[in-house]
Amino acid sequence: FSARLVPLRTPALDGTVAILSLHDLTGIRRAERMRADFVANASHELRTPLSSLIGFIETLSGPARDDSEAQHRFLGIMHEQALRMARLVDDLLSLSRIEMQEHTPPTVAADLPDVLESVVRALELKARARAVEVRLDVADAPSVVGESDELAQVFQNLLDNAIKYGRRGGQVRVVARLPDVHQDPAARRMGRPAVAVSVIDDGEGISREHLPRLTERFYRVDTARSRELGGTGLGLAIVKHIVNRHRGQLTIDSEAGRGTTFTVYLPRVETDGDRDVVSEELS
Ligand code: ADP
Repeated sequence: FSARLVPLRTPALDGTVAILSLHDLTGIRRAERMRADFVANASHELRTPLSSLIGFIETLSGPARDDSEAQHRFLGIMHEQALRMARLVDDLLSLSRIEMQEHTPPTVAADLPDVLESVVRALELKARARAVEVRLDVADAPSVVGESDELAQVFQNLLDNAIKYGRRGGQVRVVARLPDVHQDPAARRMGRPAVAVSVIDDGEGISREHLPRLTERFYRVDTARSRELGGTGLGLAIVKHIVNRHRGQLTIDSEAGRGTTFTVYLPRVETDGDRDVVSEELS
């Protein structure tokens, strides 16, 4: 709390009075702290590959100037580091764009099977490289109220994680269903008809204590592993903000050693006869 005592002379009150004002600063301090932490983390994440690039440039223009084998190897590493910085900057930009839009939910309809099929196609090579079989069971999914590009980013991040952290040679399933509000608390929290899309892997899983912090920016269970696999630590933070903008829900079920299920609940487009009721619902 901050307390302020302001003396006030007023003839009406015939004397001197004081106003004591108390402000709860907890929320403000927490927000300031989070922002400062974020800037420190982002700077550190960018500084690490940048330092390595500077080191290699100095070596290539000095001691390794005439060593063509070293030049070839170092250029490969430098390329990898530069790509990592580019991924990080792209994710930071996505995050800030989505945060700015978070107060205006989308008013358009997205074709969920379309979005999911294109995401699976985009990650086909990556899945094949880890011998992961991706099974898509979404053909009957109804349309949702949402921006296709943003939803594609949500499922791209979730599927990419499932392939990365899932079992090599394992299976990843993407399943859409209409959740039952009587049995499903997340569907109840939606407060309107929803579609639930789950991305299910049979990988290493995540132990319970990490789950509440998983969508924080730069939070990783195993930082070295995430970096080695090309992760920025921002994927799930982006997912959370896009889901929030869509007034959806995100749940994570995981058991160490058995696999992880991420489920995204999105508002369903309801059709009244042949008439779409998207805009009416949102007005
Ligand atoms: P990253 O770029 O590190 O993958 P994310 O924000 O996408 O960042 O995920 C945060 C962390 O959550 C990851 O570093 C990883 O430790 C954990 N994680 C995410 N998805 C899974 C999954 N399907 N199985 C196991 N761990 C996961």
